[in-house]
Amino acid sequence: MTVNAGPSPMQDPMRIVIVGGVAGGMSAAARARRLDEHAEIVVLEQGDYVSFANCGLPYHLSGEITQRDELLLHNPESLAASLNLDVRTGHRVTGIDRLSQKVTIQSGDDTYALPYDALVLSPGAVAVRPPIEGLDHPAVHTLRTIPDVDALRKRIEDLLATRGQSQPGPSAVVVGAGFIGLEAVEALTARGLQVHLVELADHVLPPLDAELAPLLAAELTAHGVDLRLSVSAQAVRQAAAMPVTLGGAVRGSGKATSPAAVRVTLSDGATLAADIVIVNVGVRPASALALEAGLDLGPTGAIRVDGDQHTSDPHIWAVGDAVEVTQAITGARIPVPLAGPANRQGRRAADSICGRRTTPQASVLGTAIVRVFGLTAATTGANQATLARAGIAHEVVHIHPGHHAGYYPGSEQMHLVASFAPDGTLLGAQGVGRAGVDKRIDILATAIRAGMSADDLAELELAYAPPYGSAKDPVNMLGFVAQNVLSATMPQWQAQDLDKALATTLILDVRSRSEFAQGHIDGALNIPHLELRQRLGEVTALAGKRQVSVYCASGVRSYLATRVLLSEGVQARNLSGGWLTLQAVHPNL
Ligand code: FAD
Repeated sequence: MTVNAGPSPMQDPMRIVIVGGVAGGMSAAARARRLDEHAEIVVLEQGDYVSFANCGLPYHLSGEITQRDELLLHNPESLAASLNLDVRTGHRVTGIDRLSQKVTIQSGDDTYALPYDALVLSPGAVAVRPPIEGLDHPAVHTLRTIPDVDALRKRIEDLLATRGQSQPGPSAVVVGAGFIGLEAVEALTARGLQVHLVELADHVLPPLDAELAPLLAAELTAHGVDLRLSVSAQAVRQAAAMPVTLGGAVRGSGKATSPAAVRVTLSDGATLAADIVIVNVGVRPASALALEAGLDLGPTGAIRVDGDQHTSDPHIWAVGDAVEVTQAITGARIPVPLAGPANRQGRRAADSICGRRTTPQASVLGTAIVRVFGLTAATTGANQATLARAGIAHEVVHIHPGHHAGYYPGSEQMHLVASFAPDGTLLGAQGVGRAGVDKRIDILATAIRAGMSADDLAELELAYAPPYGSAKDPVNMLGFVAQNVLSATMPQWQAQDLDKALATTLILDVRSRSEFAQGHIDGALNIPHLELRQRLGEVTALAGKRQVSVYCASGVRSYLATRVLLSEGVQARNLSGGWLTLQAVHPNL
């Protein structure tokens, strides 16, 4: 292990120059100061703010974080006082001269050069500008910075103050149903706006497996959000003052004149009136500076770095949204724009610059979470689409357990999906629910990082008392179910295979008669699971040589039934996730 306390006061201090003063950049600056008291550390930030909580912006928009100052964790003065940092806001780095180790800086009308011994690039990401006509209209906003949220709050306050009783309430179109888009929808709804959410993909939160997304869609709709899936916004045009339909329904008296700023035309021909448009369709690495300086970039346009954040230049490190990381499951080199990796990478870059032993950059799981009104959605590792694209063999299990013991009041059902390699290694997990999802996904993220398998999950010893969990925690249950599937104790079928199951197998519904009456797969035989042992003959007679595809509401009773059938020599398999998952995959069943 190399330990370097930094240069002694007798030596010229090292000058560390950092481009970007928020997540990754400020982590690097603070860690570098803690490791080297004598270094000259200059942070250059093009904006007016440093070290601000960009993840908190949607919650200031909603009004939950009431004080704007809460988002401003530090300013140049506080950073000079606490960490002896030279933080320069309004200073944009416009070029890097690698030969002479200098950056060129633009500040107002001034341009100057600053030499560096070590340069850290943490310029973040830039918002993708989709091909929508009229994106420069003043009603169109993004949600990335403090000035963005200031502008949005001002616009909302003006709208609420000026809109008359007889006029339709203010409305917004949010383009993009990713993490930040969903947070924006929630915030605008909380402020009383009618929100239309437009998403090109066929489900909200595209990184989520398709069978979990309908839960979020239902929650959005229940909160009055007008959801438009599988369509793109094509144009934003100034609205003429005229009677309007909002989201397809006429609001107010029908004689109302819309003062809406714009009309947003969608690819399906629909037109939405809106006072505010927020476009959030993703980001790309802010790597233009690195590209111009001749640093190596990957095919995604992100800056190539090694295990201790070195770029292809030995004097330049790069961190955060702008760099490539290794996706833990697929090994793909991609940018993953999340705050946790950016902060850890900033710390690692400082360790490397200051000659400390670095913990080499771990591959990134992309663990992420979002609140959508009363629901939480979270994901870690690879989702099913990613595994399929990468050609990685896997088994998927779905469970719908309570977040704590069912007999203790207030148990909320959660929906978990996890993918396992044929050898049992956990590859990815996702969850949606009203309580306890964050805890499970964090456990599962830790499990993936530790290379755990279904057997390990089954044996995890987690804290339990009835108000907190179950003796068999949902995480253990994922392990049990996966063990059963992988050992062929419980062969399973997936909701996506319904057509094939209908064509080639006997479908057996083992729910109660009343559940069956409320909805079932056409052509299914209904034998409630408690009657199955007595009515086995009916199953074998009807099935003939065909396999029996069993299902119940969530997969538990059908598991019992599958075991009964298998032990009687009947080829049977259980529907993963049961009717709940089936309905999510086939909403028109
Ligand atoms: P940033 O923190 O974006 O900092 C880059 C800075 O560099 C910017 O301030 C920029 O102005 C400056 N800069 C760029 N070029 C130059 C230049 N040439 N000269 C000088 N300065 C320059 N992640 C999560 O994990 N969880 C969340 O809940 C979450 N919520 C988010 C909500 C919002 C609204 C946003 C916008 C992001 C959210 N993120 C979240 C993502 C997270 O904030 C980023 O992944 C993280 O900030 C990236 O850190 P970074 O240092 O790479 O870039």
